[in-house]
Amino acid sequence: MSGGDILEFEIRPTPHPVSDAERAALLVEPGFGRVFTDHMVTIRYSEGKGWYDARLEPFGPLSLSPATAALHYAQEIFEGLKAYHLADGGVGLFRPEANARRMRRSAARLAMAQLPEELFMQSIRVLLQYDRAWVPTRAEASLYLRPLMFATEAFLGVKPSSEYLYVLIASPVGPYFPGGVKPVSVWVSQDYTRAAPGGTGAAKAAGNYAASLLAQSEAIEHGCDQVVFLDAVERRWVEELGGMNVFFVYREGDRTVLVTPELTGSILEGITRDSVITLARDRGYEVQERRYAMEEWRADAESGRLLEAFACGTAAVITPIGRVRSVEGEFTIAGGNPGPVTLELRQALLDIQHGRAPDPYGWVTRVL
Ligand SMILES: *Cc1c(COP(=O)(O)O)cnc(C)c1O
Repeated sequence: MSGGDILEFEIRPTPHPVSDAERAALLVEPGFGRVFTDHMVTIRYSEGKGWYDARLEPFGPLSLSPATAALHYAQEIFEGLKAYHLADGGVGLFRPEANARRMRRSAARLAMAQLPEELFMQSIRVLLQYDRAWVPTRAEASLYLRPLMFATEAFLGVKPSSEYLYVLIASPVGPYFPGGVKPVSVWVSQDYTRAAPGGTGAAKAAGNYAASLLAQSEAIEHGCDQVVFLDAVERRWVEELGGMNVFFVYREGDRTVLVTPELTGSILEGITRDSVITLARDRGYEVQERRYAMEEWRADAESGRLLEAFACGTAAVITPIGRVRSVEGEFTIAGGNPGPVTLELRQALLDIQHGRAPDPYGWVTRVL
């Protein structure tokens, strides 16, 4: 079958679903990415045949040849989005078509087959139909959806794989800040970069994460929560965190100005980043997408000109940055407290996502 056609999903519900009582217990404090729902979706691709064998099946291990191409040459991409329990009892997704499109762009960069947007959407609808009970109803909790795709051809030759497996799994997650919003501390990596010009930084590729983990460990060793990456050429321009984009908040005269690093090709184009830009402009704030130097960050934080800084991404929504540490020392932002613009944008985004506020941008797609 070809490109955009819709596939008939074969449905194989699990004979052993988790009981209501057990699921309720798991949903109390699921943490992040440790608990999984009863089912998963898989779709196969083969050159010449296209996408085929779409199914819903019990969540469980995959069986792979040790020669599976992804295990050797890292042709692997993923996405992350959330299903939300809406105020009216339905289930909504936040800008899922943006994830579908980004997954296609990531695939193109890694010379992989591109999953049609409609199949991406269909996979989510099918999974939620069967695992709806796993969408947490507790405030600020959600069901994290993790679509992934990797090269499955069993061949050690170096070339784009001729076969791929798309998988969708889902994991209930609790509120990111159960005890109230708490600013994070960040470590600025001098020794390691995440992505270089011409590389895969703009693709949501597993390999980018592999490249970021040592720097993340270094951040932890230095008593910080997250790592900040600088550009690979000058080691001067702030790019992003390991998995979140960044914003800086200024006040110029009577205007609120947000600055975020411009998309250079080595920065991941976050959907949260894009949503924050829209929300900010609609509130009359000016948003500048431009290069932002580490010296600027330090000098403006120390002089008090910089009022707030925050990181953003699907998993943590909007997270204030309170303390910045590097080989040159440490500085704090707004005394290490969350700022009003950060909290305002965070609340506005959450209210739209959970269906508590009007959705003038058509960002929420109701699935159930
Ligand atoms: C996924 C990701 C983000 C955030 O993207 P969202 O679409 O907002 O979740 C930012 N940076 C990196 C490196 C990422 O992988």
